[in-house]
Amino acid sequence: MALKIWLDDKLVDEQDAKVSVFDHGLLYGDGVFEGIRVYLGKVFEEKAHIDRLYESAKAIRLEIPMTKDQMTDAIRTTVKANGLQEGYIRLVVTRGIGTLGLNPFTCKKAGVIIIASNIQLYPKEFYEKGMKVISATTIRNHPLSLPPQIKSLNYLNNISAKIEALDANVPEAIMYNHMGYVAEATGDNIFIVKNGVVSTPPVSSGSLGGITRAVVMKLGIQNGFEIIEKNLTRFDLYTADEFFLTGSAAEVIGIVAIDGRTIGDGKPGPVTEKLRKLFFAYARS
Ligand code: PMP
Repeated sequence: MALKIWLDDKLVDEQDAKVSVFDHGLLYGDGVFEGIRVYLGKVFEEKAHIDRLYESAKAIRLEIPMTKDQMTDAIRTTVKANGLQEGYIRLVVTRGIGTLGLNPFTCKKAGVIIIASNIQLYPKEFYEKGMKVISATTIRNHPLSLPPQIKSLNYLNNISAKIEALDANVPEAIMYNHMGYVAEATGDNIFIVKNGVVSTPPVSSGSLGGITRAVVMKLGIQNGFEIIEKNLTRFDLYTADEFFLTGSAAEVIGIVAIDGRTIGDGKPGPVTEKLRKLFFAYARS
């Protein structure tokens, strides 16, 4: 069935949802975006995603031509128009149409795109058996280069690491920062469990402030887990009892090997499984 796409200020048919070749989102990756889940017809963590979008935009001096309330309405309208009960929203704000040349201020109005559709999740088997990863040699963007908290349309840093993973026949790569500390996976945040304590790198280590990460931390703490933020090294990953990733698309997924080192007993561990179940129940509550 053809989708209804939100384009700038209204819904259009999928075949009419087109952007200009002069949009700086396309020419320079100049723009920001969000990936949001829909569970039981409801937009998951709606406010957190909208706040993050507007913060990303502010950081790159991109003015979104809608208020947050208007954006919320546009998202809900798009979800409803497509009858989406379970799925994924891709919300994109581009710099807009400008001239050839970097100057963003030649773009008079930002473009808004909202797609409410399905998502290709990892196969079910990965959730049951866990996933293998490698360490990428591509380091995460230096915060003084492009702050990793900005969810920008320029994902080449992450894509370079993803290519390393795919070349090594694994689905994901772990990215380290310029100081050698663990930052994040190419599209997911990282957690480990050691001696019963759950740790995740602080966002300042070079990761996106993941919304799934925040929910998992909240649920974990409410359920009696000790969860702390601390810098992690490659050694910490190699010697973890459990290791898992979080993200809107992946939710909570166990990692069972990194760079040929088996994690724990080679299966997703009990803390990972418990947090995955808590997340699943919360998302559908
Ligand atoms: N890090 C990066 C680089 C991401 O692109 C994402 C989102 N796919 C995440 C982490 C996870 O963030 P969230 O839980 O908000 O989806």
